[in-house]
Amino acid sequence: MEHYDLLPMTQIQVQGSKDTTQKFLWNLRDQQLIESVLIPASQGTKGVRASRLTLCVSTQVGCALGCKFCASGLDGLKRNLSTGEILGQIILAGKQAGKRIDNLVFMGMGEPLANLPALLPALDIILSPKGLGIGARHITLSTSGLVPKILELSKYPAQIRLAISLHGGDNDTRRKIMPINDRYSVEELLIACEQFIEERKKMITLEYILIKGINDDLKQAELLGKHAKRLNAKINLIPYNSVDGLEWERPSKDQIIAFKQKVEMESPSRVTLRMEKGHDIDAACGQLRLREKNRNPKDDFE
Ligand code: SF4
Repeated sequence: MEHYDLLPMTQIQVQGSKDTTQKFLWNLRDQQLIESVLIPASQGTKGVRASRLTLCVSTQVGCALGCKFCASGLDGLKRNLSTGEILGQIILAGKQAGKRIDNLVFMGMGEPLANLPALLPALDIILSPKGLGIGARHITLSTSGLVPKILELSKYPAQIRLAISLHGGDNDTRRKIMPINDRYSVEELLIACEQFIEERKKMITLEYILIKGINDDLKQAELLGKHAKRLNAKINLIPYNSVDGLEWERPSKDQIIAFKQKVEMESPSRVTLRMEKGHDIDAACGQLRLREKNRNPKDDFE
């Protein structure tokens, strides 16, 4: 007990949503705050309906990459999470839910691929039957596009899924939203994706947040469709979820539908429109932590 960290975090807040999405705020040993979101979903396959419990997991306190739509990046990076803190979210959220979590998306606070030294050992434990025993195809890592890390991940033995946050079809549009584009251009990112797919023989997903007047025009839809066709990638369209302190807005429903139709014309890939759950509980990453921090201005978050 003296030498081992049995409980790397305590829960300080849980918000439940009308659609039963739940958001957890965890306090770490050094008083840093992180979030995880529990998302129940029913999955139908050939008439059989199975219930799935997904946890959106954080990998860092804050984030260095400063994507303009994201609350997690507003304060910059504080530190990487340890392997225990990554696993702790899954174990403690599962205990709270009273059910086994069987699907993981690493799309919470932080850039997962910027913390591979802690994340890969966590994945080994998550995948192991002696650990959490969650299957590789039920684990998705999402990246803003760290090209060298995508190539490093392509060597990881388990067939985990990869999602790329694209959010812009060309450099000018993407750099308005994601400063990382100044380090790795859209073309460099697409080439890294091709290498990942070649190495893994596995489909990837392109994530695309739709922001009114920023990246929702039909030219961008055309480019997105072309990139997806080139990679044979699935596409996930996510209408923007407003963030306190940021001015961007969600496009109109008509614009969202027109964008989706244009993407579908350009690419044979499957296009899904993900209406995010948990709108009423600050479900965009980093929002609950931000609100808690603003509520307790005297707390030291540095
Ligand atoms: S979207 Fe992800 S990579 Fe971008 S700032 Fe937020 S946490 Fe970081």
